[in-house]
Amino acid sequence: MGAHIVEGKSIAEGVYNELKRELPELIHQTGQRPVLVSVYVGSNPAIEVYIRSQHRIARDLGIEYRWYHLPDSADEREVLRRLHQLNNDSEVTGVILQLPLPPHLRRSVLVNAINPAKDVDGTHPENVGSVLIGEMRVGSCTALAVMRLLEATGIDMEGKEAVIVGHSELVGKPVSLMLLDRLATVTICHIATAKRGFLADHVRRAEILVVAVGSPGVLRGEWVRPGAVVIDVGINQVGTRVIGDVEFAPAQERAAFITPVPGGVGPVTVSMLMQNTVKAFKAQAGSMRSEELKIKN
Ligand code: NAP
Repeated sequence: MGAHIVEGKSIAEGVYNELKRELPELIHQTGQRPVLVSVYVGSNPAIEVYIRSQHRIARDLGIEYRWYHLPDSADEREVLRRLHQLNNDSEVTGVILQLPLPPHLRRSVLVNAINPAKDVDGTHPENVGSVLIGEMRVGSCTALAVMRLLEATGIDMEGKEAVIVGHSELVGKPVSLMLLDRLATVTICHIATAKRGFLADHVRRAEILVVAVGSPGVLRGEWVRPGAVVIDVGINQVGTRVIGDVEFAPAQERAAFITPVPGGVGPVTVSMLMQNTVKAFKAQAGSMRSEELKIKN
């Protein structure tokens, strides 16, 4: 029979419907609409596909979407100048720096330059730190998407054996913290786990398995614990196909729930970006109101 396939598209639609209910009233109250700005450096067809899809979705929701394209030759100072401009533009709600960056640009320097209140991707150290101390302000969109997919399965995460494969700042680490916050028992595996030959042992114990490596089929289906929930974050272009990190067919036979690639984590991640943008818009509108009140008093 096999696992139930958790369709990201319908979960994302649910998020958009919530936002469509909320946004018109917010726009009416503030007399403004959220503005999401994408900064893209270099030349990467995959990023351009993301930008077009983000643009279409934002427009459908009533969020204004702008994007700035800087050439591959742009240096750090040039990108920083653009980010500072956006930080100081009171019309701009959220800023997203499209990744990956060309190799001569340091991600940490540029991400740190984004005003944390406008960091709708949830990657600024202040926002990452807020997840660490259990007082999340803005979470990483992909990590939030993983949590949303897990919630959609209806499983109780408390006390569950959760194994995360991959320890990146964008995915593996924030997902681990969010699962820890739900009192799951979290094990984080990475390249050294695989090199020592222990990956299969850890994965076999996982009741919740989140894989974010970026290597097609690195996670063998036969390792999946029967009845597990499998969230495959990986996106790998193999010839003309896009596939995940998990060997789908044998994993589906064993798991209770599994996300497909494409159509699993990806669409929910975009919906989390829109949700974070609306959250930032509300927070900024709230702080503008309190400034006005201070001036009046
Ligand atoms: P990343 O920064 O390259 O991190 C990959 C992680 O996997 C690293 O922690 C790496 O460890 C570890 N690793 C590498 N080889 C391994 C192996 N054989 N066994 C176990 N661990 C191994 O990538 P990322 O940004 O986290 O992204 C991971 C994947 O998710 C990519 O395919 C990316 O395209 C995809 N992604 C999807 C979405 C979405 O919305 N669906 C969003 C973001 C990313 P070391 O660093 O120690 O080498």
